[in-house]
Amino acid sequence: MKKIFEAFLDLIYKKKCYFCGSSKHSLKMCPTCYEEMQYSDFRPNRIINGVNVYSCGVYEKTLQKLIRGLKYHRQKELAFYLARFMYDYWLNINDKRDFQVIPTPLHKNRIKKRKYNHMELTVEEFCKAAGYSPNYDLIKRVKDTKPQYKLSRKERLFNLSDAFEVDISKNQGKPVLILDDICTTGATFEEMINALRKNGITDIVCMASSSPVC
Ligand SMILES: [Zn+2]
Repeated sequence: MKKIFEAFLDLIYKKKCYFCGSSKHSLKMCPTCYEEMQYSDFRPNRIINGVNVYSCGVYEKTLQKLIRGLKYHRQKELAFYLARFMYDYWLNINDKRDFQVIPTPLHKNRIKKRKYNHMELTVEEFCKAAGYSPNYDLIKRVKDTKPQYKLSRKERLFNLSDAFEVDISKNQGKPVLILDDICTTGATFEEMINALRKNGITDIVCMASSSPVC
């Protein structure tokens, strides 16, 4: 009877790992599964209009499940682990400046559907770790664009043209670090960089948690 009671308590109070199902650590992501995520090289994945774009890992296996869980399956707690993965990578870049960190914004229609912007949650956790200030108001998505994944690079850029609007009154005057989940062709970063540049903000670094397998 006692055993059944304990098992019942465990069920209530112990968190299961979202990835392997283990409740040993009572964490949403256990250390073993966290360690499975592999870092990409600690150098720019690409350079877009003179801006360094980093990609922390490859969009597959555990990292893919982490991003999909956070983005599509309401697993908000996973933002902490994605932010930690990105921050651990970021430490290797060794940029000592003080940043304002902005998430890739979602259009308000998309937020209505998903209830939250997963990258906003990630930026919040990232800033807690790094001691940077988040900035959720500097750049807004004003065009409800089609999902990018089915489009070619040219179509992506057209789809995204004039998609972002900068509210310069919200600028904190620090270098900008933009965080996104996946960098495929770099079109989203490119449009955001252009929108910021038009408003005189040129000191920019971009970092995506992942990029697709090449
Ligand atoms: Zn696990």
